[in-house]
Amino acid sequence: MLRECPLCQRERKATTFKPLYGQDVCKKCYYAFANRRQLAFVIDVFLIRVLSFAVPTLIFSVVTVDQSNIDFYEGVITLLVLGITYVLILLKDGMGGASPGKMVTGVQVIDETSRAAGNWLQSLKRNLPVLIPIVPLIIAVQLQKGHRWGDGWSNTKVIWKKYRDHPVFTGEPLGVPEGIGDDYQRPGDLAGGDNSNPFAPPVR
Ligand SMILES: [Zn+2]
Repeated sequence: MLRECPLCQRERKATTFKPLYGQDVCKKCYYAFANRRQLAFVIDVFLIRVLSFAVPTLIFSVVTVDQSNIDFYEGVITLLVLGITYVLILLKDGMGGASPGKMVTGVQVIDETSRAAGNWLQSLKRNLPVLIPIVPLIIAVQLQKGHRWGDGWSNTKVIWKKYRDHPVFTGEPLGVPEGIGDDYQRPGDLAGGDNSNPFAPPVR
């Protein structure tokens, strides 16, 4: 059975749909958005790596190193590389909600409530978990569904800029998808139901 994807509006096999922010979208859109976010991260990590090594290299091209004290300088360099890496990871989404990687791939961090671009504090909060080893790998899978660790605490979500006002990203109800049938009900349609949570799964 075919069903129209709410994002790309193409008819796709209904069985391949997957939930993004609680709304079913076609597999192509689902992975296209996730891949943009993953690629953004790879770009950012690459840039941060380059910068974190470039800064100490620059400093020590000017500062004369006392060769008898080489261990000390190595320690300083290690600290600098780590420090710069951590600070840049924490602050990467602070400027207009988009790190360089996110700018390139067309995604953006916004405030879940106000829908304004994410700020520096939100960037810091949502990227704290990223500093924990292995967590970036978990997040790479988590983000396919939309929210990831850190989003709850910072009240953020990542949107696909070209679909910025689409219900999938605004959290508004989509209306009854085609092919579901007349008995389709959203949670709030049930007697005494509560439709305040746009991420609740549809009740059929
Ligand atoms: Zn689609």
